[in-house]
Amino acid sequence: MRESCQHCGFEFRLNVVSDRRTSTKYLRAGCCNAPLRPCPDPNELLRSPNITTNECEYLQRLVDLDWFSGKVAAVLLQIEAKVKTSGEVRA
Ligand SMILES: [Zn+2]
Repeated sequence: MRESCQHCGFEFRLNVVSDRRTSTKYLRAGCCNAPLRPCPDPNELLRSPNITTNECEYLQRLVDLDWFSGKVAAVLLQIEAKVKTSGEVRA
C-alpha cells in the first residue's frame, strides 16, 4: 500500500540523514525533505526484552553502520512500534 506524505501529499519515501559530528541519525521525508524525527537507535532496541532472535540479529548488524537506507529505517520503526506496544501492555 502506498502512503502519501503529510507534508507534500506525494508518495511518501523515508530518507535517513546522519549528523557527522554527533553521529545521530535523523529521518526525513525523501519526497520533500521535511524533517520527521530522530531515527530509532538499534542499540536501544536491542535492550528491549520484546524483540525476537531474528530482530536481534538484524539489529546487531546495524549497530556499527554510519548510515541506514530508508528500507532499514522502516524496519527499525516497525520494531520500535512493536517494542513500545508490548511495553504498554506489560505496564
Ligand atoms: Zn513529502
